[in-house]
Amino acid sequence: MTTTQTASSPIGSATLAEFTAGLRGSAVLPGEPGYDQARSIWNGAHDRHPAVIAQCAGVADVMRTVDLARSEGVPLAVRGGGHSIPGFSTIDGGILLDLSQMTGIEVNPDDRTVTAQAGCTWKDLDAETQQFGLAVTGGLVSSTGIAGFTTGGGIGWLMRKHGLACDNLIRADLVTADGQFVRASADENAELFWGLRGGGGNFGVVTSFEFQLHEVGPTVLSGLVFYPAQEAEQVLAGYRAACAAAPDELTTLVNLTTAPPVPFLPESVHGTRIIGVGGCWSGDPDAGEAATAPFRALGTVISDVFAANPYAGWQQALDPLWPRGIHNYFRSAFLPALDDRALRVLAESFATLPGPLAEIHLQHLGGAVGRVGAQDTAYALRDQEFIVNVIARTPDANGFEQATDWARGVTTALGPDARAYVNFTGESDPALVLASYPPQTHRRLVELKNRYDPTNLFRLNQNIVPTV
Ligand SMILES: Cc1cc2nc3c(=O)[nH]c(=O)nc-3n(C[C@H](O)[C@H](O)[C@H](O)COP(=O)(O)OP(=O)(O)OC[C@H]3O[C@@H](n4cnc5c(N)ncnc54)[C@H](O)[C@@H]3O)c2cc1C
Repeated sequence: MTTTQTASSPIGSATLAEFTAGLRGSAVLPGEPGYDQARSIWNGAHDRHPAVIAQCAGVADVMRTVDLARSEGVPLAVRGGGHSIPGFSTIDGGILLDLSQMTGIEVNPDDRTVTAQAGCTWKDLDAETQQFGLAVTGGLVSSTGIAGFTTGGGIGWLMRKHGLACDNLIRADLVTADGQFVRASADENAELFWGLRGGGGNFGVVTSFEFQLHEVGPTVLSGLVFYPAQEAEQVLAGYRAACAAAPDELTTLVNLTTAPPVPFLPESVHGTRIIGVGGCWSGDPDAGEAATAPFRALGTVISDVFAANPYAGWQQALDPLWPRGIHNYFRSAFLPALDDRALRVLAESFATLPGPLAEIHLQHLGGAVGRVGAQDTAYALRDQEFIVNVIARTPDANGFEQATDWARGVTTALGPDARAYVNFTGESDPALVLASYPPQTHRRLVELKNRYDPTNLFRLNQNIVPTV
């Protein structure tokens, strides 16, 4: 755990006082009431102490905060929903630009669009859009922020039908490193718009997003079916076959995990390794049972909790299993196909889970995700059929390092050259940034970075390093 306490502020007191007085939101300083809560992020592995936390109320506050960081030469962290696994949305001794108070949302039901400020979580957005029977692909845990999620790509339950979150982005408003307010869309600053859809927070602070929405729900056939750990190879092979025939309206995943003490699992399996196969059918309700059936007959069924759930409810169903404040590390590997070797590595790694909170997720991509051109967005790995997210979690620092090493080992075993996903990368490692983009995409991102952020003001992210 990082616990560096800064002794003195890198910003002069007169400058800080002037900055604070001009904010419409508030500035929280070390020692002030609320500081500890304001500085904490979701991942308890990162405990840092910013010199100032600027809780922005609007675009003007964001511009002022970016200007302060640039003019004072002080490192800057940007926080949307605060779910960064590597801890990019907090900082020791620098400025934390916190967007969490900017949660305005406006749905336009006629156009089926929504404009949402960058501090929104998926819970916020789903609540507003579902009021009109509409939705866009969001995260599997509703407390995740729309900002980091969308700028990194955005994998979720609706993706095979409606694409990634970034594929549904129509427009983003942002403040760039020079403090300018810029609009990016297909028609305005198109190259910047390309980079914002997969290039992460490298190019500015997005203040609001406009998304295309789709008719979804109000209920979706969704849930999990559980199989015994001993049947891992059989279940994974069956899953591969079922995915090959799955319609786009069905998005599924396999979770190689440990059974939590939940009422829908028999007590006899609580605390033992178990396979969960989850899914969400967002098509014609009458066709859902037939479409999901192959995924619900992959082995000896321990429990099947698929049901017609309200979409917004399903989006929150996993939240209790993802509490704030414990230690987390994610490590990803894209798989162009689930070949026999990868299948064996997954089954063997499952047998070595380093603790009851560690998990391996195998998510099926394809469908609408694969139909977007590799040049169309900075999220370019469109030919990858699956993604593996290896999750190391411990209640506190005890055993965290070993669990993290295990996660690294699993992805290395899957293939040392496997491609990575920026949103599922739990550390800051230039090699993993390179692994996240095809070479030509990375070169294009560097050119964009050179143009919009040549001094690398926005560096707390999966960093595209400028070359000017
Ligand atoms: C419990 C959990 C579940 C998850 N589930 C999924 C999932 O289903 N699918 C998926 O694809 N990912 C998932 N993720 C990963 C998630 O997408 C990333 O962690 C993402 O960065 C979180 O966004 P945030 O706004 O909450 O994060 P933050 O911690 O606020 O920010 C993360 C990064 O984004 C940058 N950023 C934040 N706001 C802005 C902004 N307004 N403008 C520019 N840059 C900004 C930050 O600087 C930082 O580099 C999950 C993560 C967690 C912890």
